[in-house]
Amino acid sequence: MTKTITLIPGDGIGPEVTDAARRCVEATGVKISWEEALAGQDAIEKFGEILPQSTLDSVKKNKVALKGPITTPVGIGFRSVNVAIRQALDLYACVRPAKSYVGVKSYYKNIDLVIVRENSEDLYAGIEFEEGKPETKEIIAAIEKNTLKKIRPDSGISIKPISVTASRRIVRSAFEYALKNNRKKVTAVHKANIMKFTDGLFLRTAREVAKDYEGRINFEDVIVDNMAMQLVQKPHNFDLLVLPNLYGDVISDLCAGLVGGLGIVPGANIGDGMAVFEAVHGSAPKYKGLNKVNPTAMILSGVLMLRYLNEFQAADRLENAVKEIIAQGESVTYDLRSDPKDPLAVGTSQMADAIIAKLKK
Ligand code: NAD
Repeated sequence: MTKTITLIPGDGIGPEVTDAARRCVEATGVKISWEEALAGQDAIEKFGEILPQSTLDSVKKNKVALKGPITTPVGIGFRSVNVAIRQALDLYACVRPAKSYVGVKSYYKNIDLVIVRENSEDLYAGIEFEEGKPETKEIIAAIEKNTLKKIRPDSGISIKPISVTASRRIVRSAFEYALKNNRKKVTAVHKANIMKFTDGLFLRTAREVAKDYEGRINFEDVIVDNMAMQLVQKPHNFDLLVLPNLYGDVISDLCAGLVGGLGIVPGANIGDGMAVFEAVHGSAPKYKGLNKVNPTAMILSGVLMLRYLNEFQAADRLENAVKEIIAQGESVTYDLRSDPKDPLAVGTSQMADAIIAKLKK
């Protein structure tokens, strides 16, 4: 059966890398009808707004989207279109696998981690009070009255809400991802020893959810600072990590660094029955239209999408084709060469062509 999927090319290098990913996904033979929807610079030019309602409606209808990166314009509207999409569609789980590929420069080998980051609350909820404002003074006064603790009057305040509801659904979605993708262990990461009412709540909830998966998926918890050290010293001890928003942001970049950086790390934003797949990297505007950047992160986001659609065989075939092309090191972009100025580096679309040719062999 043909599946309709929303394709958001994005801007900057977005259209080039999404075109590469679309062609690679199509070459697997999975029947997809793409419904193109605009967001970013092209949407401003055509609709006068950066994130048209019609784009959100398309994702809501089709339930799955493949999305290119989108530039966050300085000084207008909301903080980021990417964040706005996640919030509007309640895509509360940010899933980022970090996997080693032979041929990618990196200090480590054979890393295979998945990071599941809560996307909707924590210090990223955007609840902030600016230093010196009357409402900030009110908040400080209320805190001092209720806790008998002093806060310096020249403080800014950011609020860190962590709820049972959001903790439960993120941990459950981490376990479900582990089951579906043959993972063996979930590690909850927190700072519950210090923040007992937020991280403590997250940990307590994670332990409760873990009971439902006993005997099927192992569970442990690690304090975030210790986690950072252990990931550098012995990353192979871990399998799937689930974290509140802020730690998830930091640790997922650390894990991208373990496997060689942004050009190869895919991502997914998943909610209840809906998912948007996108590379971790941004729109790299200086490379726009040059057919130069690495399409791997976007193609591997397509691999995650195929798995989400239960097209496991097609996903494995595409991932293997990417793996082989990178390992051969011939038809790869500048960033995967030992000398980035190597004149033999191929362009974005030529790397996709080589992956497609490998897939069809
Ligand atoms: P960026 O990821 O766009 O680029 C940083 C650098 O990383 C580039 O200059 C390039 O050297 C390298 N790089 C990125 N992608 C690459 C690829 N596919 N192949 C090879 N090299 C690659 O980060 P930035 O410059 O901080 O952000 C640019 C814009 O993208 C900003 O407006 C930012 O808000 C936005 N952004 C969007 C997303 C998203 O759409 N999800 C994510 C991050 C940043």
